[in-house]
Amino acid sequence: VKDSGRDGYCKFSQDLSEAVDERLALENALRHALREEQLELHYQPVIDMEQRRIVAVEALSRWRHPERGLIPPDCFIPIAEDTKLILPLGEWVARKAIGQFRSWRDQGVMLDCVSINTSGIQLFRPGFVEGLLGILKEYGVEGRHLQIELTENVLMQDVEVCRAVLTRLRDEGIRIAIDDFGTGYSSLAYLKQLPIDMLKIDRSFVSDVPDDPNDCAIVEAIVALAYSLDLVTIAEGVETDAQEFFLRQMGCHRLQGYRYSRPIAAGEFADFVKGFPWG
Ligand code: C2E
Ligand code: CA
Ligand code: CA
Ligand code: CA
Repeated sequence: VKDSGRDGYCKFSQDLSEAVDERLALENALRHALREEQLELHYQPVIDMEQRRIVAVEALSRWRHPERGLIPPDCFIPIAEDTKLILPLGEWVARKAIGQFRSWRDQGVMLDCVSINTSGIQLFRPGFVEGLLGILKEYGVEGRHLQIELTENVLMQDVEVCRAVLTRLRDEGIRIAIDDFGTGYSSLAYLKQLPIDMLKIDRSFVSDVPDDPNDCAIVEAIVALAYSLDLVTIAEGVETDAQEFFLRQMGCHRLQGYRYSRPIAAGEFADFVKGFPWG
């Protein structure tokens, strides 16, 4: 996999790993961050090719550390997962993102949905669905305006439990997207066993189209698979005109990437949507 982001290179956790007890130090710092509201969400638009407008937005976590500045999620999500801090963190993300969606609507920014990244620890936790429904109700947002992004590896952990949880989400209108599609070690069987709505084609396949014939073939195959299973495709990490042109030709439904916008702060997002040239 070309895009090996997770852990490893993260300077912040490396610095801390030289501390007496890396995990404990990071865990404590993260716990503190949650309590002190040092976390924030940035938002990246998702553009629909046919409707030619921004239909959705993905919420991405950041840690605004008082000394170290903005820390990317690859540096703290894995630790949050190891320490189960992902549970309060994930709940915070859901509340923040859904509340933000509500306030955009109130300002006349009409998106179809807000998408949140969800880890397996959250999904398999009893009460996960009820927790989400409670937050939706609190903000008066319907389930169909919420999208959950899960990786293939999460779905492979326990297909039966997964099916039960995803079915309940689906019953509430909540949509389910497979994140980083094609990078996990999984069979494709789950695609017909689980109520899935979208495939997000991983950036590692998108970055070298249209030049790399292998990547072109992979993208074409994923889009064809999605069509035959009646799933929506979203390409991640679209940066160039040439990539956009290729993906449009392939019939990919939605695009997301720096070509349109980096993830931006909530305050900037409403203006970005209003000024988006395709609208
Ligand atoms: P992801 O869900 O695959 O998110 C896409 C990542 O690609 C984001 O990185 C985004 O900023 C970046 N990206 C978007 N467009 C482009 C592009 O055109 N070019 C390039 N080079 N990169 C682009 P980010 O925000 O650093 O997030 C990294 C990962 O951290 C996410 O990958 C997701 O797996 C995880 N993550 C972020 N927020 C959360 C969260 O609240 N909960 C959980 N469980 N995971 C999260
Ligand atoms: Ca994602
Ligand atoms: Ca992704
Ligand atoms: Ca990714």
